[in-house]
Amino acid sequence: MILDGKMVRDKILDELKLKIEQENLSIKLAIILVGNNEASKIYIKNKEKACNYVGIDVEKYILPEDTEEQTLLELIKKLNADINITGIILQSPVPEYIDYDKCSNLIDAKKDVDGFTRDNIYNLYLGKDTILPCTVKGIIKLLEYYKIPISGSNVVIVGRGNIVGHPLSLALENLNATVTLAHSKTKNLGDVTKNADILISATGVKHLITKDMVKKGATVIDVGVTRENGHIYGDVDFDSVSDVAGFITPNPGGVGPMTVAMIIDNLIWMKEREK
Ligand code: NAP
Repeated sequence: MILDGKMVRDKILDELKLKIEQENLSIKLAIILVGNNEASKIYIKNKEKACNYVGIDVEKYILPEDTEEQTLLELIKKLNADINITGIILQSPVPEYIDYDKCSNLIDAKKDVDGFTRDNIYNLYLGKDTILPCTVKGIIKLLEYYKIPISGSNVVIVGRGNIVGHPLSLALENLNATVTLAHSKTKNLGDVTKNADILISATGVKHLITKDMVKKGATVIDVGVTRENGHIYGDVDFDSVSDVAGFITPNPGGVGPMTVAMIIDNLIWMKEREK
């Protein structure tokens, strides 16, 4: 069965739009982009489109490639202090000479839509109710929507990146999954992934996960994105793996749309805590 991220995103956005209307929530998102990264521009367009749909205002700050780090830090301070701004996104990547961690960590934890500031990650580590990174939350919501049990399941995550794999391992552990975090140094990766009731791949290695690495009936979530000659490829060899998987995400059309919906979900969560 296909885990249809687009369909679930649309349902979630409709519910959130209604909530914003009924509760008359006034929410504003600030998005900062430094430079001309083409993929970033597409991501920002998708975020803006979802915000427009549900009735959230967006303020974009597109800074030139040669922006000094200090200018970016000043902008973040200004947005932190602005009571009309509910949430802030600093789009990654930033140009090499800018310290992304330093800048993103300056975002007020209460306005940190991406959930990457130290306070929010520490709360996640402690298992507290906190702002979850959008991709992590999107994967959990997708599993919940299709009623795939998380508690007690063997989850194997391939990729220990700070944006997906690592925080996802904490979040799923907090939901009582038994989590194995695999990476490029993992020996006999296929033996490890075959134990998974839920296999999640977040590496950016095209078609790393093949049929022989998946247990029959397992749920397979493909997070990875590889862009090649205008095409997007996932980490999972969908055609062969869908023969053995019980549930599987398409890619594109699985985790990506859910990530965008969770930006809205996080913004509402943050707005409600302002009260
Ligand atoms: P990252 O920080 O670059 O981490 C990649 C991870 O993959 C690393 O832990 C690396 O292992 C592991 N890896 C690389 N080659 C491997 C191999 N052959 N076997 C096993 N593990 C391998 O990446 P990220 O930022 O977490 O993102 C991961 C992917 O998700 C990227 O493709 C990104 O574009 C995509 N993504 C998608 C969404 C979405 O909404 N769909 C959102 C965010 C990210 P080591 O640690 O040992 O080097």
